[in-house]
Amino acid sequence: MICPVCKYDMIVVEYHNIELDYCNSCKGVWFDSGELELLLESQDLEETKVFLDGILNSQEAISSEKKRNCPICDHKMKKTAIGEQPEILIDICRDKHGLWFDGGEIAQLIRRLAGEHPSRHDSKEQVISFLEEVFEAPD
Ligand SMILES: [Zn+2]
Ligand SMILES: [Zn+2]
Repeated sequence: MICPVCKYDMIVVEYHNIELDYCNSCKGVWFDSGELELLLESQDLEETKVFLDGILNSQEAISSEKKRNCPICDHKMKKTAIGEQPEILIDICRDKHGLWFDGGEIAQLIRRLAGEHPSRHDSKEQVISFLEEVFEAPD
């Protein structure tokens, strides 16, 4: 798959049967929606599923950021903001092929998730360490 930002080939990162596409050049990450769902299911994170549905069905954010094309269907993706101040802007395929995180946005999301729902600390912790492992490993 080709990186929607810099057009380099992305590398496939596999972890617990879940494959992600990672761009070594801009550090962006592509999640197929099915893969993200698998990840959340494997962690049994109901709250996170609600969170994901919220993202997939949210309104387009107003942004001056350049629009990116979906690496699967090549149509322009919509910008969606996660959280508030400072919000994280991610790109989502309108046909729900998946989500694109620019380099650094995953790290912001990890910090955001880590700060929320302290009562669900254990399961959140698993996803956070999963993400850390995946995104800090390749170099
Ligand atoms: Zn790239
Ligand atoms: Zn698409």
